Amino acid sequence: MVKNRIKELAAAYKSEFIANRRHLHANPELSFQEYKTAAFVEKQLNNLGISQIEHKAKTGLLAVIEGKNPSKKVIALRGDMDALPIFEQNEVPYKSINPGVMHACGHDVHTASLLGAAKILNEIKGQFEGTIKLIFQPGEELLPGGASLMIKDKVLENPRPSGIIGQHVMPLIPVGKVGFRKGMYMASADELYITVKGKGGHGAMPESLVDPVLIASHMIVALQQVVSRNASPKIPSVLSFGRVEALGATNIIPNEVKIQGTFRTLNEEWRYKAHQHMVNIAKGIVEGMGGELDFDIRIGYPFLKNAEALTSRAQEAAVQYLGSENVVDLDVWMASEDFSYYTQEIDGCFYRLGTRNEVKGFVSGVHTPTFDIDEDALEIGAGLMAWIAVNELGS
Ligand SMILES: [Zn+2]
Ligand SMILES: [Zn+2]
Repeated sequence: MVKNRIKELAAAYKSEFIANRRHLHANPELSFQEYKTAAFVEKQLNNLGISQIEHKAKTGLLAVIEGKNPSKKVIALRGDMDALPIFEQNEVPYKSINPGVMHACGHDVHTASLLGAAKILNEIKGQFEGTIKLIFQPGEELLPGGASLMIKDKVLENPRPSGIIGQHVMPLIPVGKVGFRKGMYMASADELYITVKGKGGHGAMPESLVDPVLIASHMIVALQQVVSRNASPKIPSVLSFGRVEALGATNIIPNEVKIQGTFRTLNEEWRYKAHQHMVNIAKGIVEGMGGELDFDIRIGYPFLKNAEALTSRAQEAAVQYLGSENVVDLDVWMASEDFSYYTQEIDGCFYRLGTRNEVKGFVSGVHTPTFDIDEDALEIGAGLMAWIAVNELGS
């Protein structure tokens, strides 16, 4: 049976998957600068004898594996390749050799897993029908998102896949388990850049000034009504401000205050209405208090909705592969992912790969300098992805 063959191969090649992951982890590159990473991936694919490889979106790659009867059905598998601007604090043999750059979101794991799936799928291509497109994309961590550029570069055309599968590490889930959620899963995320301008001067003479610190304070408090009053209680929404910069002193009122924040939600219509509410509320308060407002909203990734039928089939495939005790249901997650761009074009399934191991100390969250994984996850990351693809295509 194909599933057992895939399991055997994943176990047999596990040390190679780990070696690839360690190479990628030690040599991280920032978003849209994944030149060496892409060259490494291309070399590995060449070594496997996969010859249909195209360069896409500068540092991305599209590879194709054809089974029997290649035009029967097409499915895409996606891995992201970029790292983050973080100084790694793990003391491990595969520690980042690029200071200030780190695979702290597990994209090294996604890339190594997709390479592993490619190795398995290429070896069993006589045992499934259809075509598999392998999408190695750049720049997940940075707007406008590598996924949007890969789509512009036509990775979903000629032939068009009926569905796309992606996976992401999750340090909240123990290694050995995976998580799925059908329907709405992750949020849209927009970046907010606000400047409140006033008139600075001596802190002892406020009557002759326009204090942007007080205005900004009122504005921040008032803006929360967008979530608490304007949003429907049925639509999850988050508004958070993480940076407030007023460069005065005990006795100096500055000329301006700069504020940065994020707005996230799960409904596209409400998303753009909320933007309007925020601008209106901020304008009313700032201008009412004599200041000037500059409110810049940078549109981020859209929400991520997993296709019901595709995700049901993938989850069922995971149950067959790992046992029902190792497949968990996920809650809504208010982070965002550029995989959502693919799901706006075709059916998608984005699932989670458990990487936690408390005994071995792998508990840190993604985007932290101590993030690391239990590498046993790679055998599942490669094997399960290959099995989901074959299950989707039919053997
Ligand atoms: Zn990330
Ligand atoms: Zn990520």
